[in-house]
Amino acid sequence: MRPYRIFTILFLFSLLVIDYAYFMWGASLWWLAVSITIYVSAVVLGTIFIRWNFFLPSLNKSSHKNVVALTFDDGPAGQTAAILDILKAEGVPAAFFSIGRHAAAHPDLVKRWDAEGHLVGNHSYGHSFHFDWKSAKAMSREIEQTNDTIRSIIGKKPKTFRPPYGVTNPNLARAVKRTGMVSIGWSLRTFDTAAKDPKELLERILLKVEGGDIILLHDSMPVTTEILTALIKAVRQKGYTFARVDKMLDIDAYA
Ligand SMILES: [Zn+2]
Repeated sequence: MRPYRIFTILFLFSLLVIDYAYFMWGASLWWLAVSITIYVSAVVLGTIFIRWNFFLPSLNKSSHKNVVALTFDDGPAGQTAAILDILKAEGVPAAFFSIGRHAAAHPDLVKRWDAEGHLVGNHSYGHSFHFDWKSAKAMSREIEQTNDTIRSIIGKKPKTFRPPYGVTNPNLARAVKRTGMVSIGWSLRTFDTAAKDPKELLERILLKVEGGDIILLHDSMPVTTEILTALIKAVRQKGYTFARVDKMLDIDAYA
């Protein structure tokens, strides 16, 4: 059972106990406020932190201690071609979680992803800010639309899905289950989308990186391209090799 279900059952049970204590022994109703606050906080944090697996199971890290996986979200985008050039020069396989409408606009880059040995994953169709307010049905439609777009370009239907913004909720859990996708999270969030200083970004990643990590990057960010070669070299110097996330997790990339 998912933590969300267990937590909800415990919460409802606590309401019963507090009610009972109030009527039987005149217990303070402050306990009600405490219980509600804890529940709401847990749900909000569970929504934000994909690694909690609060609403749906996501694969966030590998148990293989000598490998790490690079994953790039939001492409095809402005930096995709440059990042592909670097990955090719360094001989590193990666994963690209694609926004469906971007894939439709740049099929040539989607073809390159596949032809150069990278995994092509699903990252919703629109990646709208309102994605997480949609119904399970609407989310499923977006996931399928992206799968159809990618299949029409490379002839393979993705099986891996990365939730936009890493936000999860019960509707998304239903949509992922219905569409038969496997949710891929991360263990190292680089915050490259907010990075101002490339040196700082590189140092932050190298300070945190450890074996089995799934590293979240974006092929929309020039700063990511700027540090990529140095990042690859430094991670190798630490003794890790790069693996494609599906190989590292031992799952199927395509349906
Ligand atoms: Zn994204």
